[in-house]
Amino acid sequence: SLAVSRFKGLLQRSIRRAAHLKSLPTPARQYNFTTAIIGESEAALRSAQTLGQMGMEVFLFGSPDRPLPSAPDYPNVHAFLGSCARSLKGTVGDFRVVVIMEDGTHQVFSAGAVILGDSARRNIAYMPHPDMPPHEFTHSMQAKGLRGIPFFVPGATSIPGLLLASPPGINASERIKGTAAGILAATVMPRGPRQNKGYTVSINENLCRGCGRCVNACPYRAVSFHTNTLGSGYAVVDEALCKGCGDCISICPSNAADSPYRDRLFLEQMIEEVTAQGS
Ligand code: SF4
Ligand code: SF4
Repeated sequence: SLAVSRFKGLLQRSIRRAAHLKSLPTPARQYNFTTAIIGESEAALRSAQTLGQMGMEVFLFGSPDRPLPSAPDYPNVHAFLGSCARSLKGTVGDFRVVVIMEDGTHQVFSAGAVILGDSARRNIAYMPHPDMPPHEFTHSMQAKGLRGIPFFVPGATSIPGLLLASPPGINASERIKGTAAGILAATVMPRGPRQNKGYTVSINENLCRGCGRCVNACPYRAVSFHTNTLGSGYAVVDEALCKGCGDCISICPSNAADSPYRDRLFLEQMIEEVTAQGS
């Protein structure tokens, strides 16, 4: 029938046009491939052993309330005796862990993923920015009425790449939970440049008033806070992590957060380019 043949024609034209679509840009982002493990519980040590045996680099620190008492002899695991990890910031591929060393000095370590032992889970501060209060991260799995948790994996938290060695409420031995957390860290660790997924948000630095709402609202921790030369803060979206959910757009009081993909002119231009290439 006419309707079927028109529909087929529409599909064929769409497929021809899709073949001409440009690949999405790859945002420049430096990744770190070391896992920081904080705590010396059975599960945390098991995570360290699992990752080390897989050939992945591990830094092992004590938790905020208990300096690391001993160094396990696992391959690829660098244990910092007497150290206490105090706070951390960042997200998958790009964490910074602030550690008080045995001699009392402060050091900042970079890590691609972080696994928290039980004590560290309760005591460590996740600081999105030095001028902002600590951010509470959620570690419950998705449940009715619980918002902003973009995963359903035991051991994951609301911060991508921040994992728990021994997630509460999981009926398994510490050994199994620790092994699972190690495998999870190896899985989430980026292996190369990430692709922009499209429909990402960008923030207009000139409109941003640095209120920090979007930093706390983003369920994927894609927004970080920066300080300009005048000392005021502004938000920046990491295109590799943004999933385009729009939470930051709706919460921004100054319309600084928006998506260029929502811009009508941009969309019209894109459609013109695609149709010109496909015709
Ligand atoms: S659109 Fe969603 S994922 Fe992207 S920065 Fe905003 S809140 Fe985060
Ligand atoms: S919510 Fe808007 S004004 Fe506030 S920091 Fe984010 S982009 Fe800037």
